[in-house]
Parts: sequence; C-alpha cells; structure tokens
Amino acid sequence: MQNLINSVHDGLSSHAYIFEGAKGLDLRGSARLFAAALTCRDRAIAPCGACQVCKETRADTNPDIVYVNSGDKKSIGAEQMRALEEDVAIKPFAAARKVYIIEDGAQLTEAAQNVFLKTFEEPPEYAVFIIIIENLAPLLETVLSRFTLIHFPRVSDARVKEYITGKYPEETDRLDFLVRYCAGIPGEADRIISDEYFETLRAESLEKLDALFSSDRISAFSVSGFAEQNKDRFNEILDFWISFSRDIILLQNGSEDKIINIDKKTELERFAARLDPGTVVKISEKTIKAQKMLARYVNIKAAAMWLAL
Ligand SMILES: [Zn+2]
Repeated sequence: MQNLINSVHDGLSSHAYIFEGAKGLDLRGSARLFAAALTCRDRAIAPCGACQVCKETRADTNPDIVYVNSGDKKSIGAEQMRALEEDVAIKPFAAARKVYIIEDGAQLTEAAQNVFLKTFEEPPEYAVFIIIIENLAPLLETVLSRFTLIHFPRVSDARVKEYITGKYPEETDRLDFLVRYCAGIPGEADRIISDEYFETLRAESLEKLDALFSSDRISAFSVSGFAEQNKDRFNEILDFWISFSRDIILLQNGSEDKIINIDKKTELERFAARLDPGTVVKISEKTIKAQKMLARYVNIKAAAMWLAL
C-alpha cells in the first residue's frame, strides 16, 4: 500500500489497478485510501487528511471518487458500463483525478469487460480505475494484461490476534479458535462476532458430521434436509465440514496443535478414533468439490444429496 501512495507522490501512478485479495482484508478501505491520495490537493504528502477533498473523501462525499456496483441487480452489464463511459468523459469536479472503484469485479459480465476495454484504449488523463476482486478467475486475459495487479496477502496469526483483542477484548474464551478460523483475514472476525447464529450453526454442523460420514440413505436425507433448512448458509456449513474433517485428519496424524476447532477437540477426537482415515480424506475431498459445484450454481439439494451418498 505504501508503494502505491509513494507512486502518487512521485507522479508515477497509472490508470488501472486490480486489487486482489480475500473479502475481510478491507480492500475497499485500501482503495478508498489510495483514491484519497490520488485526489488530494497536496500531492507531495497525499492524502494530507486536511484539505477539503480529503475531508470529503472521509465522509464518502468526494464527487471525484465514484463507487461502482451492480445495485439491486446481480451483475454489472454492458449497458451500465456504457453509462459509466459517459461519466468518465466528464472532467473531475475539484480534484486532478477522478477515481472509479469497482467494488466487486466478479460482478462484471464479459460484455461489460469488453466495453471497459474499449474505454481503456484512450482513457482521459485524469481517470483512474480500481477493480476490487477476491480472485482473478472472472476477469478476461485482456483486462488482466492492461491493469496493474496489486495482491493483498493474508496477515499473520499474531496480527489477527492483535486485531481481535484490540477490538473485542471480551472475546477471551474462543480467542484461539477465532484466530485460527480467520486464517489471516481480520475482517472474518468482525463477521463471526457480529453473527449471533454462527456458533449455533457450527454446533449443528458438528452434530450432522455423523450423518455426513455414513453412506446410508437415511443419513443422506438427514444431510440434505439440514442443507435445505439452512439454504442461505449451506456454503458456510460446507466450510465447517471442511474444517472439521481437516482437524480430524490432523488428530489422526498426531498433529493436534494445528487444529482449528480447538474448542471442539473432545468431540473431534471421538471421530478421529472411530473413523477410517481413508474415509475422512475421501469425504473431505468430496465436501470441497461440493463447494465448487455450488459456486457453479448447482442447486443446494442436488449438491447435498450428491455429497451425502
Ligand atoms: Zn488532502
């Protein structure tokens, strides 16, 4: 991030960036900070934090920073991109730059990306585009080749711990679990802690583990029924199952110090003692595959049934 800010000071910033990294790493916050630097009146120390433009950026009212998202639609299509193109043609209001932050690049359809590329053949001097995206898969090669890629890595467990203890001093009992489950993404802690249903869902997913590891029809219906009941959160249930299976495999290999669900260790040990290691690996791989199926819009019931049988 500091390199990007320095590039503004040196007048070396470019027109197009992709910020790639996990949700929960606050890429939007980083994009806003960079946009603040790009639009600040005092380039040498941008973002100065004191000029009128900086104040507006902080209040999210800087007219020269445009946030682009699909609104109530599912994706950003070619038409929306064409409308944006017209906006790009209008000069900045007060700053030397006009920054467009595309909040979720995964929403860009292929047609939209193509319109975008055309805009890019000759972007106005003042325009800067930032695409925020979790992984690069949805972007066309031609887009990737024209944008400067900034990868945001996960942070260390020590930093996640610092973040949680600083912001949520009351979270002492499950601190170790939280640090491990967040896997280097501090924003995950915000999501989990603010979610009242998280622990219930995790406990219920653990209870369903028996059915998941059995291959009879009754168990299969029990798993798919559970998935149906929690349709909106099935992806998260799969996350739990993946992490439980991983922990069981670790326990079977004597690496208990590495398990994520430390608070559920006793229950997981029982599974580790009872289950055949080959079966656990197989189910674990299948669960990961089910998650990929869901990402391709296979329906939940079908994915759950396939997983359980
Ligand atoms: Zn400023």
